[in-house]
Amino acid sequence: MTDLKVEKDIVASVHYTGTHPDSGEVFDSSEGREPLSFLVGHGQMIPGFEEEILGAAVGEKREFLLTADRAYGPRDDAAVMEIPRSQFAELEKEAMLEAGMQLVAQMPHGPSPFTITVLTDDAVTADFNHTLAGKSLNFAVEIVELRSANEDEKSHGHAHGSDGSIQH
Ligand code: ZN
Repeated sequence: MTDLKVEKDIVASVHYTGTHPDSGEVFDSSEGREPLSFLVGHGQMIPGFEEEILGAAVGEKREFLLTADRAYGPRDDAAVMEIPRSQFAELEKEAMLEAGMQLVAQMPHGPSPFTITVLTDDAVTADFNHTLAGKSLNFAVEIVELRSANEDEKSHGHAHGSDGSIQH
């Protein structure tokens, strides 16, 4: 099975390090953790990440720069909103709010993470954009393991761990 390549319906296990191209600062890495496993071709990963490793074999390393449109998408100004600070009264009994803090709002469609960008006495400015939206990102990726997805994984649209056993 060593002739497998990264393509649709392959479960790929990779080590990766993501850095900001301007500063070189690492924003995410699998170093010191288990490799990341995902089902290729089912939207589990940001689009450019999969495209750039297509055709790669086990042991292969690739480095690439993704512009925002191929990573977390552009920033959306409509996703920034002002919320009356009074709505945070319960939370403020337990925690001190500050700019830069990340919280999760319970929305009708499910939990939505946001970042507090501005804090005044009356209002909290909440930015619901992904923290990496609008940014170009560098990735260094090494293919650790490849295997064909099983039927359960293909129908669920995600990987079931490195050996394919169901974990949910
Ligand atoms: Zn599943």
